[in-house]
Amino acid sequence: MNPTTMTILLVGAWGLFAWQLYRRWRLMTLGPNESRFDHLGERIRRTWEYAFAQKRMRRYWWAGIAHQLIFLGFIVLLLRTLILWGRGYDESFNFWVFGVGQPLGKVYSFLKDIFVVLVLAGTSLFFYYRIVLKPERLSKGFEGILILLIIATMMLADLLYDGAEMVRVARAEGAAIEFHAVEPAGSIAAMALAHVSDGTLNVLRHLGFWTHGTLVLLFLNLLPISKHFHVVTGIPNVFFQSLAPRGRLPNVPDIEGMLEREETLGLKRIEQLSWKAVLDLYTCTECGRCTDQCPAHGTGKLLSPKQLTLDLRDYLYKHEKALVGAKGSRSQGAEGAEDGNGGLPELVPDVIKPEVLWACTTCGACETECPVFITYVDKIVDMRRNLVMEKSEFPAELQNAFRGMETNSNPWNFPSSDRAAWTEGLAVPRMAEKPDADVLFWVGCSASFDDRARRITRAMANLLNTAGVNYAILGEEECCTGDPARRAGNEFLFQMLAQQNAEILNNYKPRTIVTTCPHCFNTLANEYPDFGAKFRVVHHSEFLAQLVADGKLRPTNRIDAKVAFHDSCYLGRYNEIYEPPRETLRSIPGLTVLEPTATRDRGMCCGAGGAQMFKEEEHARPGAQDERVNLKRTDQLLETKPDMVASSCPFCQRMLIDGLAGRSREDVKQFDIAELLWQAVGGKG
Ligand code: SF4
Ligand code: SF4
Repeated sequence: MNPTTMTILLVGAWGLFAWQLYRRWRLMTLGPNESRFDHLGERIRRTWEYAFAQKRMRRYWWAGIAHQLIFLGFIVLLLRTLILWGRGYDESFNFWVFGVGQPLGKVYSFLKDIFVVLVLAGTSLFFYYRIVLKPERLSKGFEGILILLIIATMMLADLLYDGAEMVRVARAEGAAIEFHAVEPAGSIAAMALAHVSDGTLNVLRHLGFWTHGTLVLLFLNLLPISKHFHVVTGIPNVFFQSLAPRGRLPNVPDIEGMLEREETLGLKRIEQLSWKAVLDLYTCTECGRCTDQCPAHGTGKLLSPKQLTLDLRDYLYKHEKALVGAKGSRSQGAEGAEDGNGGLPELVPDVIKPEVLWACTTCGACETECPVFITYVDKIVDMRRNLVMEKSEFPAELQNAFRGMETNSNPWNFPSSDRAAWTEGLAVPRMAEKPDADVLFWVGCSASFDDRARRITRAMANLLNTAGVNYAILGEEECCTGDPARRAGNEFLFQMLAQQNAEILNNYKPRTIVTTCPHCFNTLANEYPDFGAKFRVVHHSEFLAQLVADGKLRPTNRIDAKVAFHDSCYLGRYNEIYEPPRETLRSIPGLTVLEPTATRDRGMCCGAGGAQMFKEEEHARPGAQDERVNLKRTDQLLETKPDMVASSCPFCQRMLIDGLAGRSREDVKQFDIAELLWQAVGGKG
């Protein structure tokens, strides 16, 4: 068409794009390196499933379809764009196998035309979302509309060029303008243009051609400065996702050495983010699905996982020059530059407010929802680590929990000598007396000390006795797993408890550990292997379901009631255990299990996780209604009109009992699955 213009456009646009990518790359290399090239087969499988097949997008039906159409359209039309750029130099340019008349060329022409139409359909759906539906979760502003306009215009320009070109060729060959099945959309455009004059046709052909070619290059250069950078970074971000168990927080090796060397503990400055964490920030599509599911945000707190990501990203972009300059000084060994970041303030409170961090229940709902696998809990906990371990800045109530874990190995600070007081009147052996027991029943702090939760523990012990399980407990030897300490940012305390417990466990080497607490379960199963304690850990919901299936427990007593089941985040979302607690409930004659609307991996948190159990909830953000997480969850459960509410976690139980009391619904009783099963098996309490 015009080689000079095409060359200027291509060199200018690609040069600018390369420069922008280089700047983004420099920011990615400010922080520590981390290896994400392990288990390549698994990474490829997940990339296929979540990036190409876009499995998580299917959670939002229409938006998912629209996004999939545009995504596939982009892949198909990539070749078309290359062909058009080639035609800037030679109007008949085609990649040989895709040439006119070639079998592959016909297939491609057909596919290309179909996808042009499908992309137009997808953009129309998104226009409808943005202009008519306007979901609260989406970022405001014109950027989304602008990008949609560019995409739609590119598609229309392609049709215009194709149609005009088909008419031009037909007129040159003296052929009729008719419908061609291999170019359905193009030939419809050609038929629409059949009667325009040669001069107008030529103008339209050029208009279509240059509009498409130029808009692609404009789009390319808008990517790095917009939320649409995910077009470039989305697939890599899915590929490089963490393959560690979801419930495992990144470990801090050699924490004592770090303390001695007075190194920064936790995330304090932006340049401490690894390249993968920065890639997370680049990849946010601003879809707001994370915030939409966040129980803290949903109950009026200042925390919004999306905003947290965007605040970090914007801060990084804003201070690019200072950060890159400071890195240069450090690498040249400039005096006083070892720890410098160009004089920028610390992340908390300048970029992220402490109340944002302390509102998080670590429920994982945000991460389950994010279509591009951005993580937040690791960053939130890492910022808490800095506040707690370096600055001693944390909610005052947590001090009691930390002191309790330090002195009495439990966050309530009950005397550790009372840990096994719940066994009174029951035949419960200790590992010290029965070191070859098949099963170690790990009781946990809540179930050891909380009066109400002790009823779960006693029911569980009774069930184990009835089923003839060869088990024992640690009794006074058991310490808190350290889960609340770790999630509250006190990694030092967590590691102390983990090492202590790991030593005791390795002494007994139990074949199986069973626990009623999903937090203990998650920590023992997913985090203790980092401390040399690798055992088979089973949650009581799975263990009980198996005992029933094996006929070792026979729930014959009817419980004629409707029970709404609440999923614990650390059992469900983090460890994908959804069916066993339901199976256990369903095994009880007369019991009907009800599902709240928000259930399973979309179940709402009870509000206790992430050490929230041991502190007050954060205040509401300005203009938002202050609500308690457990009350909102209780309302959701009550909507099912149950006779009772069941859970499989002592923390959830406490929050839901308080929730039912808060709603004056003491008529609806709360039970753990073990308590209900014990009743059905014939137990009296
Ligand atoms: S983990 Fe839960 S509470 Fe924390 S940001 Fe994510 S959704 Fe919100
Ligand atoms: S972090 Fe993920 S879920 Fe949240 S807005 Fe960004 S892309 Fe959407």
